[in-house]
Amino acid sequence: MSSRTEIASLGEFGLIDHLTRNNETHHASTILSVGDDAAVLDHFGKQIVVTTDLLIEGVHFDMVYTPLTHLGYKSVIANLSDIYAMNATPAQITLSIGISNRFSVEALEEFYEGVYAACEKYNVDLVGGDTTTSNKGFIISITAIGEVAPDRFVKRDGAKKGDLVCVSGDLGAAYLGLLLMEREKKIFLESPSVQPDLESQDYILRRLLKPEARKDIIAFFEENGLFPTSMMDISDGLSSELLHICKQSNVGCVLHEDKIPIAEEARQFAFKLDLDPTACALSGGEDYELLFTIKQEDYDKIVLNEQISVIGYITEAAEGQHIITRSGNKHALTAQGWNAFK
Ligand code: ADP
Ligand code: MG
Repeated sequence: MSSRTEIASLGEFGLIDHLTRNNETHHASTILSVGDDAAVLDHFGKQIVVTTDLLIEGVHFDMVYTPLTHLGYKSVIANLSDIYAMNATPAQITLSIGISNRFSVEALEEFYEGVYAACEKYNVDLVGGDTTTSNKGFIISITAIGEVAPDRFVKRDGAKKGDLVCVSGDLGAAYLGLLLMEREKKIFLESPSVQPDLESQDYILRRLLKPEARKDIIAFFEENGLFPTSMMDISDGLSSELLHICKQSNVGCVLHEDKIPIAEEARQFAFKLDLDPTACALSGGEDYELLFTIKQEDYDKIVLNEQISVIGYITEAAEGQHIITRSGNKHALTAQGWNAFK
């Protein structure tokens, strides 16, 4: 066991210094970072995208099965994903934490290890935050700041009739990873001596615990001169996100069940739990994939990218939002996708 350093032994300012002692910045837009009343950023004629997220222990994450390093990493990823979903590039984050003396300095160091790992991988500067006491568990608030060339940001309201509906990566695996962890937690709480049976479910666990943001897809758009007509990231499940795009763009859509990308391991685990894999993809959260629409004439630009699937098309609003199942039946798409299948 490593030794435990009490937060009280450092004090608030000592703790901030400690957690940020090796913090470096890399962006020219970062003029002033941690250590003053505020950070100073200068984005030299680019447009700025800002997003913020609040994560609360017991609501958004469970400390029983979330390693702190992973929690730090994932907290950053969730925010960067929102920046990429605007077709922007993240440059800075601020990180605020609410902590109790239940945490040791070492535990917070682990959390920051994950935060710094994500910052390094995605080339983002940590430029500030706040540190406060919480008696209601661990609280994490992250704000991410990104840059985009003037008027190159992509909103949710630009989808037009005839556009193709596309999604990156595969869907539903993080939700299945969550179900696996919940199952093992329940078994553990009932009989702590039983070893967890994770059945070498590496993929769904990684999707839950160490998700990535789709930086590569934004880069691909840029390289191929592709400009999506609408875009958002999938944090709450495909169906509710697609309904957002349809509502904000005032359009309808047709989704094809057999086109929805689902990893084989996720599919198998869903069957094991007697769940419909499609339902998991439609309603499971935390995939952090990108959902976007493109003009039909741009199809040639994406067809060779194996990380992008065309899953449907946009219709007039009056036609509503539907999914066509494998058996050819047409169902209304609802925010809780699987209700449609009952
Ligand atoms: P203030 O009293 O103005 O809130 P703080 O003492 O809270 O200042 O913060 C001092 C500096 O440390 C600021 O630059 C702030 O952004 C940074 N900071 C505070 N908490 C954190 C944290 N958890 N992670 C990173 N930077 C932090
Ligand atoms: Mg403060």
